[in-house]
Amino acid sequence: MQPIRGTKDILPNEIEIWQAIYSIAQNTLKNYNYSEIRTPIIENTNLFERGVGNFTDIVNREMYTFTDRGNRSITLRPEGTSSIARAVLSNKIHLNNKINRLWYLGPMFRYERPQKGRQRQFHQLGIECVGTEKSIADAEVIKIAYEILKKLNCEQNCHLEINSIGNMEERELYKQGLTKYLKKYESELDKNSQKRICDNPLRILDSKNEKTQQIIREAPVLKNYLGELSIKHFNEVCEHLNCLDIKYEINNYLVRGLDYYNYTAFEIKTNEKNNQNTICGGGRYDYLTKQLGGPEIPAVGWAIGIERLISITKDQLKTRIENKAIYIATEDLETKNIIWDIIHILEKYKLKFDLDFTNNSISKKVKKANQVGTKICIVVSQHDLNDDYLVIRWLNTGKQQKVSLLNLEEYIKYIKNFF
Ligand code: ATP
Ligand code: MG
Repeated sequence: MQPIRGTKDILPNEIEIWQAIYSIAQNTLKNYNYSEIRTPIIENTNLFERGVGNFTDIVNREMYTFTDRGNRSITLRPEGTSSIARAVLSNKIHLNNKINRLWYLGPMFRYERPQKGRQRQFHQLGIECVGTEKSIADAEVIKIAYEILKKLNCEQNCHLEINSIGNMEERELYKQGLTKYLKKYESELDKNSQKRICDNPLRILDSKNEKTQQIIREAPVLKNYLGELSIKHFNEVCEHLNCLDIKYEINNYLVRGLDYYNYTAFEIKTNEKNNQNTICGGGRYDYLTKQLGGPEIPAVGWAIGIERLISITKDQLKTRIENKAIYIATEDLETKNIIWDIIHILEKYKLKFDLDFTNNSISKKVKKANQVGTKICIVVSQHDLNDDYLVIRWLNTGKQQKVSLLNLEEYIKYIKNFF
């Protein structure tokens, strides 16, 4: 039996990377006063298919939608932002009269053609800063993304692209201008873009097709359709980024796949040249809650694709995620108490341990400790116990230390400094 196409098991040897990312995110976000939120994986389809004019790729073609036994249309969430906005409204979180900074990490589902960096079930870490229209919030969320990438040692492999996509009216006018221009070249566009001319012309801007790209280069640019407020907001975000010394590239063609964005849109991409090089996508979305039937609550956020993040951080994290268990190799001992004494001390100092249960000889057990990559092996033989000591081997240096049973706790406390 194989897993469903486009889905993957996350195996025990990979899980530590996931846990490390979770914990780095949690610590960083706590610092910025973010709280974790977990919303259901299934939602009513109309959360994502909001009325007319929502013709994104996700809604058009990629959703996992089914009818449940009660004849309701249900969708496996393709992204987190809509669910968070829904949760804010359903739980009246916005009535607490403060800015709500929320983060999540969980699986998302999109019916796409599986390939490198593209799965049908994948995971996103996302943050949403809900309740402010201020440009400094846009800069803060971008900074947080950079902080997380920095802690994962991969920010130097990435770059930030940013754009302003204006407000709804400006974008509507631009759409008309763009459609008019593209119609002239309709037959020369790639097949996908031809289909998008009427329903989603903005998405044509990030077509990867060479010929389409050429046509786009001469197309009207959104920048020229922006009003004063949009330009002011954008300039302020850029100024904050300058203060923060975060480098960015203004990409006039960056529009993002989701329809509810306004003003700021940004992506963090790896410097690799492939089509799946975007790790983080985000922007401002001031109208989403209104589209969901609530009041207008301005917000800004981003989502990072964890699988893509792992593909660029794996090597950096591997060294950190070495096997941190202390191996315990014992002979068949006359009295068993000593084993439990050792374990109690290790527990007390919160040191992970791995007691070898086999009947193997001590030397085989020490060999095993080496194989599993631990730094330290506690070797307990009857011969040494008769003289009231045991041996601690530092496997990374090959050194070993005789430790008297009386000093054992003191020595383990010292070991703790190395973990
Ligand atoms: P793309 O243009 O690559 O399809 P997108 O615009 O659809 O990306 P978003 O909706 O902005 O992506 O999602 C944010 C991030 O989630 C992406 O930058 C990417 O890292 C990740 N992501 C999106 N779709 C997938 C997928 N099918 N498999 C793995 N990761 C994904
Ligand atoms: Mg996509």
